[in-house]
Amino acid sequence: MGILETELAELKQCVPKVIADSVVETCVPAMVRVNIQRTKYKQMVVCFQFAPDYPKTRVLIELKSRHISEKLLDGLTKLCEEEAEKYLGKPQVLNVLRFVRKFIDENPLCCCSGEISAIKNKLIVGSDELKLRQKTSSVVLKVVQGSYIIRHNIVIPENYPDKQVSIEEKECNYPPVFRRWFMAQATEIARQCVESPAKKRPKDPPFVLKPSLEPVISFLVSEARKYADMPCKYCNKQAFPQDPKDVETDETAANYVERVYCGHIYHFKCLDTYIRTPPFQGGKKCHTCGLRIYHDRWKLTPETAEARWAHKQAKQRELDEVTDFLT
Ligand SMILES: [Zn+2]
Ligand SMILES: [Zn+2]
Repeated sequence: MGILETELAELKQCVPKVIADSVVETCVPAMVRVNIQRTKYKQMVVCFQFAPDYPKTRVLIELKSRHISEKLLDGLTKLCEEEAEKYLGKPQVLNVLRFVRKFIDENPLCCCSGEISAIKNKLIVGSDELKLRQKTSSVVLKVVQGSYIIRHNIVIPENYPDKQVSIEEKECNYPPVFRRWFMAQATEIARQCVESPAKKRPKDPPFVLKPSLEPVISFLVSEARKYADMPCKYCNKQAFPQDPKDVETDETAANYVERVYCGHIYHFKCLDTYIRTPPFQGGKKCHTCGLRIYHDRWKLTPETAEARWAHKQAKQRELDEVTDFLT
C-alpha cells in the first residue's frame, strides 16, 4: 500500500473518533471530504486533494460552509495551508481537521460571521465600535451620537440562530425610561426572530426562523442615533440637552423628555399642554407622523379632555371677571 492509501485507511478509522461531530463523506485518492458539524451554523466541509508527490508537497484544501462567510473561509483556508505545511513528508489530513475543529470551538462567533461583516459595513461609523469576544461568544456594541453613548453586550448562544441572542446593558446615558425601552424592545425583536407570533392571522406567511443578531444591533444603533438630536415635536427645540449630565430625571419637570407610542419625543410640559388643548376630536395625534398619541400618563378620552378643557375655560373666565372687576 502506498503512503496515501495507508493514510486514507487510517482516516476512515480514526476521523469519526478523533474529530467530534464529523462524518467522512468521501475518502478516496482523488478526494477526501469531511463534514464537521458542531451545530447547524457551526458547520464546515473540508475537502482535500493530493498532488502525485504528496505528502512531499502540501495537500490542497478547500473549505465550504452554508453559513460561514466567504471572507472567513478564505482566511481560514490560508491558515489550514500553513498548518499542513508543518507536516510536509508526513500525513497531513488529520492535522488539518484537528485545526479546523479547534478553530470552530475557539471561535463561536463564526456562526454569525456574515452578520458581523454586514453590521461592520453598514452600521458602525465614526467612534462606534463592535468588539468581538470569542471567549464568551459575545459582541460588545458601542454607539456614540454626540455626547450620548450606549454600550451593550450581546451574547450569541451555542445553538444560534435557533435560540435568540440575549442583550445586556453595559453603559447608557439616556434617561431610565429610554434605557428600559432599548432593552425591552431589543429583547422583543430577538424573540420575534425565533418564535412564531402567538396570534396567527390566516393571511400571514408561514413563520421562518431568522438570525437575531443583525436585527437587534440595527435597532439599537438606530435608536441611539435618533434621539440625541431629535427635536420636541411641539416646540421644535432639541429635546435632550447637549450635555447628558443635564438630562432631566424629574418626571414632572417641564423639560422631562417623554417618548410617545409612535417613537417621537416631547417635553413633558409641551406634551401636557398639547394633550389638554382642543381640538380633541378623534384623539390627539403626533405632530410629525399623525399617529394617535398613546401614553400611560395621559389616559384621557377625547370626551374627558373636552370636559376638562371646558371646565378650565369656565374657571379662567370667572377669574378674568374677578380680575377685571378689581383693576
Ligand atoms: Zn418642547
Ligand atoms: Zn410621531
